[in-house]
Amino acid sequence: MKFAGLLKQSLTDYPGKIAAVLFSRGCNLRCPFCHNAHLLVRPGRNDAAAGEIEDLELLAFLQERRGFLDAVVFSGGEPTINPELPEVIRRVKDAGYLVKLDTNGHNPLMLTKLLADNLLDYVAMDIKAPLDYKKYLEASGRLSPKDFFNVRAAINLLQTTAIEVEFRTTVIPLWHSPEDIAAIARYIEGARLYCLQQFNPRTTFDSGLSSVKPYSKEELMEMARLCRPYVDSVRIRNV
Ligand code: SF4
Repeated sequence: MKFAGLLKQSLTDYPGKIAAVLFSRGCNLRCPFCHNAHLLVRPGRNDAAAGEIEDLELLAFLQERRGFLDAVVFSGGEPTINPELPEVIRRVKDAGYLVKLDTNGHNPLMLTKLLADNLLDYVAMDIKAPLDYKKYLEASGRLSPKDFFNVRAAINLLQTTAIEVEFRTTVIPLWHSPEDIAAIARYIEGARLYCLQQFNPRTTFDSGLSSVKPYSKEELMEMARLCRPYVDSVRIRNV
């Protein structure tokens, strides 16, 4: 499997751990606020892209960094659109690393298999909007009814697993009122962690968002307060 890029060390992508971050190419969604637009489309078979890394190079890198890194984060794009992902993760786990997966939840079948095989230590799943098809479609840019079914199945699955799980929403005034954020928290009632991420209007997939003013820190704090009755912990990021 080829990855579009490798961040050799991050202190923020896996809470409490020093992690390398792998970015995969391709995504089934087209979230207008996506900051990784260059990763959304997979290159053609013969297209070489700068910074790409293959799984063998990755494993050599991880051997070299043993003792300095705790974990590997698989991010994207959407990593689970790649059927080879479970095998790569297995090899990373065999090398002794913790594994975190960042996902939009569109592939609960792969998620089920990864969990059953004990290949994941942490999953961060995006929840783009309240679990209403029209709202979710607006915030995702592109969403088939099957994708929407899968998102809900992935939430149900992650609500029952023992590994570390966070649900997270990038909060955008165009699509999220405080009531919408509270509705998401209600949907994931009992979750251990819900993160509200500040929206950054720069470098978005839809350049029309550049004029949208993000919520203030105080407004996000008020949304966090509305969520607290439903989830164990709420965090605000990137403010
Ligand atoms: S799920 Fe949305 S934000 Fe994440 S990579 Fe795909 S388009 Fe970008």
